[in-house]
Amino acid sequence: MKSSKAQAVRWLSRLMQREQIDTLEKPAEGNVFLFTIEGFCEQNPTFFICRKEEGLRIGYHSVSENPSGSPPVPVERHLIEWHVLESSTATERQERILNTLVATIRARKKQYRTCQYCNVKYPPERGSGQKTCYNCAAPRSPAAF
Ligand SMILES: [Zn+2]
Repeated sequence: MKSSKAQAVRWLSRLMQREQIDTLEKPAEGNVFLFTIEGFCEQNPTFFICRKEEGLRIGYHSVSENPSGSPPVPVERHLIEWHVLESSTATERQERILNTLVATIRARKKQYRTCQYCNVKYPPERGSGQKTCYNCAAPRSPAAF
């Protein structure tokens, strides 16, 4: 399994070739590109780059508390403004986007905890406290949910 960074490098370079996400030549608003890290934990963490009026927004998807319930919620962590991208070379743009994406991935992975009962890695929104995942906590304290 490749490292998260290697996965991000491969995904981003393909995306930039195919979609030119880093220039304003295409309509700015609305395109969302999703990237999933494999091999980190059971439920692969998902990240996004979104083209917006003001620039590229980068963040991750928060996992819904109920697996069969609401869709994941996008959490924005960084904005790279168009004027910054426009004043950079193609190589600089790719580096900047990659560094921001990798920083987002690192910060998100740091949030994950390992459950003391089932040893599964879980994001904070899927857990109950620092050490117990939602699945293990649910039968013990149903009233809390
Ligand atoms: Zn557990």
